[in-house]
Order: sequence, then structure tokens, then C-alpha cells
Amino acid sequence: MLDFIKCIRFWWNYRHVPHPASREFLQTYEWARVRYQVLHKYRDTPCMACARWPKQGVWLNVDHIKPHKTHLHLSLDINNLLILCHECNRGKGNWDNTDWRSAQPSTRISFCCNLMVE
Ligand SMILES: [Zn+2]
Repeated sequence: MLDFIKCIRFWWNYRHVPHPASREFLQTYEWARVRYQVLHKYRDTPCMACARWPKQGVWLNVDHIKPHKTHLHLSLDINNLLILCHECNRGKGNWDNTDWRSAQPSTRISFCCNLMVE
């Protein structure tokens, strides 16, 4: 119930912003601002799930830990965002809420020659 109230509050405060599940949302100033804050906060961080860096050929994405489709009120909450490479982000989709921010390197997914080995 509390999340419902938070969603209503979010919707009211950001009623001028397209729905976070829409492609238009990714073009808004609000998303660009919070995305930049996350990139700045984690500027020296590789993918938080597999620990690969862009120099290893991956693109980094800012990802919602709790999906914006089910947690609308967290769409622009910096505490709900982390850095994943495109491949990890695509695999995670909306079905996993793992918070990889505190993962130690040894618990991260290991990749070798693009094959997941662990
Ligand atoms: Zn990754």
C-alpha cells in the first residue's frame, strides 16, 4: 500500500514526464540527469555483475535494480540504479532484483572468451 502511495506521488510530481516504461522517458532531462549522477558516482567501476570494463569490449548501462515497470516510484531514485554492461542488463531484464553494488569481485559472474564459466 505504501508503494502505491509513493507511485501516486511520483506520478503527480513527474506528470509532465513520459511513463518510465516508455522509450520517450529515456529522452527526458529527468532521466539524463539521474543517469549522469550514477555514471559520475560509479565512474571508476566496471559492470557490477561481471566486472568487465568498456576496454574489454562491453557497453555500460545504467540499470534499475527494481524495475521501473513494477516500481514506478523508484524510476528516478539514484539508490535504485547501478552499472551493468549491456549483456548483463539484457539478461537481467525485469525478472531479477539483485543489487550488485555491494558484490565482492569473487562473487561476480566470471566471463572467459564470452562464455560464462561460473
Ligand atoms: Zn556485465
